[in-house]
Amino acid sequence: MTDIRCPVPQCDISWPSTTAPEVLLRLLDMHERTAHPSTTPTTASMTTRVKAEKVKRPVVSVSGTSEEWTYFAQRWFEYKQATRLTGEDIIFQLLECCDEALRART
Ligand SMILES: [Zn+2]
Repeated sequence: MTDIRCPVPQCDISWPSTTAPEVLLRLLDMHERTAHPSTTPTTASMTTRVKAEKVKRPVVSVSGTSEEWTYFAQRWFEYKQATRLTGEDIIFQLLECCDEALRART
């Protein structure tokens, strides 16, 4: 089993694929907020705030493989940047990404 890597290419952080999904989601979110607070440079043309609903929200399931998790991490990262989620919105949207089985465990 491969580890789940941080979606940022230059970052060496990874988590064991045995980490519980609900724990992993929080680790990932905390890590991104602390280690990569502004990875994408904001351009002047991006002044229009994208509505969260306009961007397809990635979904992750409790039975996901480490590959699926890495994929999700990348998608989630992009999604957050596209929608410019902040604070509690991030937590809310992150929970919405979980399938029912996973949400029941959080
Ligand atoms: Zn990282």
